[in-house]
Amino acid sequence: MSQQEASQAVVQVEGLYKAFGTNAVLKGVCVTIGRGEVVVVMGPSGSGKTTFVRSLNFLEVPDKGDITICGTHVSVQNGAAGLKRAQHKQVRDIRRKTAMVFQSFNLFAHMTALKNIIEGPVQIKGVRREDAIVQARALLSQVGLAEKENEYPSRLSGGQKQRVAIARALAMNPDVILFDEPTSALDPELRDEVLTVMRKLAEGGMTMIIVTHEVRFAREVADRVIFMEGGVIVEDASSENFFNQPSNDRIRQFLRRVE
Ligand code: ADP
Repeated sequence: MSQQEASQAVVQVEGLYKAFGTNAVLKGVCVTIGRGEVVVVMGPSGSGKTTFVRSLNFLEVPDKGDITICGTHVSVQNGAAGLKRAQHKQVRDIRRKTAMVFQSFNLFAHMTALKNIIEGPVQIKGVRREDAIVQARALLSQVGLAEKENEYPSRLSGGQKQRVAIARALAMNPDVILFDEPTSALDPELRDEVLTVMRKLAEGGMTMIIVTHEVRFAREVADRVIFMEGGVIVEDASSENFFNQPSNDRIRQFLRRVE
């Protein structure tokens, strides 16, 4: 990536470290992701994938490292405690520029689908309620759930819940959406409806970072695959090269297990 492309990067991470107690989970992760790129993160369980994506929007505060999201830069030296007051605004900015879609949906159970979607824009961004509702209806329609706006999460299937969660993420108009195993809590027959929505987002140019074991989806939709093991990125390749010419035995073994 040239210097000019790097300066247009949506996500830039340098030297990211995170430990939980004595368990060192991220050990110097570095990566740059450009606008519109769809990057799938793969790797064995426990390799740090979830911690990595959660660190990007400070759901986990890294111990050390530099994170830049669309020009907003936070340099962490000493974990959450070391964040200076002046950096809190940058962290808030980064949180607004990123949206997260979780494995377990994390919808507000006491709110209808529509209310789940307007909550962020109204409360965090100060969008007028009427405007947020118009946008939320358009987003529900985009994810194929126009008729479900008044349903509570308990009355939605897992696939429908996840599509509401994606609409909720989109409502914040983020620069990048982080997906943490968005389909792994779903029965196989519900996965496709979520993957179809994600595929459309990718085609529309959304920048996406997706932790997933969905090999077929990654082959078809990802521009790049990052393979993590033991808290570092051991491979960062085009999707084609990753799947067709894996660079090492560990990746070949991993693919044999998940394919
Ligand atoms: P992956 O997503 O690749 O499975 P994770 O990032 O979820 O990996 O976890 C990496 C390691 O960090 C695991 O050993 C896990 O037990 C540990 N870990 C993750 N989150 C926490 C936490 N909040 N507290 C303590 N340990 C954690």
